[in-house]
Amino acid sequence: MTLRRRYVPPTWLKRIRDVAETKATRLLIIGAGPAGYTAAIYAARAGLAPLLVAGLQPGGQLTITTEVENFPGFADAVQGPWLMEQMRAQAEHVGTTIAQDLVTRIELGAHPFRVALDGGGAIEAEAVVVATGAQARWLGVPGERELSGFGVSACATCDGFFFRGRDVAVIGGGNSAVEEALYLSNLARHVTVVHRRDAFRAERILQQRLFAKSNVTVLWDHATEAVLGTDAARPVARAVLLRHARTGERRELAVDGVFVAIGHDPATALFRGQLAMDGGGYIEVEPGSTRTSVAGVFAAGEVADRIYRQAVTAAGTGCMAAIDAEKWLAHRGAEAPSAASYGPDYGTGRAA
Ligand code: NAP
Repeated sequence: MTLRRRYVPPTWLKRIRDVAETKATRLLIIGAGPAGYTAAIYAARAGLAPLLVAGLQPGGQLTITTEVENFPGFADAVQGPWLMEQMRAQAEHVGTTIAQDLVTRIELGAHPFRVALDGGGAIEAEAVVVATGAQARWLGVPGERELSGFGVSACATCDGFFFRGRDVAVIGGGNSAVEEALYLSNLARHVTVVHRRDAFRAERILQQRLFAKSNVTVLWDHATEAVLGTDAARPVARAVLLRHARTGERRELAVDGVFVAIGHDPATALFRGQLAMDGGGYIEVEPGSTRTSVAGVFAAGEVADRIYRQAVTAAGTGCMAAIDAEKWLAHRGAEAPSAASYGPDYGTGRAA
């Protein structure tokens, strides 16, 4: 993976400084992954002059991804960080203000919604798009992080293609692990599912499909202790070190790829108790829309999606959220803040 140095145009720096003083916006977008940036592009082009708070990892999960081959529009693979820089530049180009800050508190109980930022600023927003994403859970074993992108992945749909005709392991025993294994069984030569117990918690129908696959083996009762790499200057995964849960016996399983599938954590702590969520902490939206349980708050991307989890689906729901927000604002007849409260000349807006 080639990480490019981020070019920060002076105008952008100026905007970041100024945003600390911003008091009001019609549309606040929280999160700078494909969902947030796409919502920003659509909202800006609809004349909403959105403010996007980018958080700690602008660009989201794609900034830690190497090659992206499945985002439409590029005949050749592109680098994840580069793709996200392009989305950010496009969002800014059409009129989004991006704040390199972190939302530390949000109050959705009264209107306008109020937001506190880590940098000391405060925002009042007529509408909010939540696009804070989700993080894959990792095992936390030696070698896993170091070899991430070099044989270790948390997304079979994203990276399975690179392991055509090779041997891979899938770690986990829930629906995600079984689905990842099923997907990989169509590409890889052999798939070994490594599970720490003697039974899956995945749905029975998925298990039946998995057991019917001739190129899938399940290793029950094995904990993964490490991912082992080659001796090359830039090591790639070559095996997983396993320990039998009952006997304690250790063994190496030689594989070319390791897919960690032990669940995801949506970044929804800020909204707990304020937005309806399912048992896994994912924000609930009305089917076929991005509307949450609070009018004027919309959710896009993986924060509300435990199934698809793709950059392109996140971008799609980001587009939906902008359209939903624009319609909601129009219907509500919200007054557009004046140029004095939000525009190129920040700092004179309503008191927060
Ligand atoms: P999950 O159901 O929480 O399963 C996580 C699996 O990872 C469990 O088998 C767990 O083992 C294992 N695990 C957790 N930490 C581990 C560790 N440190 N080392 C080894 N194994 C570890 O997560 P999920 O499969 O991602 O599913 C999350 C939710 O999304 C579920 O409600 C699921 O039904 C849903 N989902 C649905 C679909 C679908 O409908 N097709 C697809 C994907 C996910 P233990 O069993 O030992 O705890």
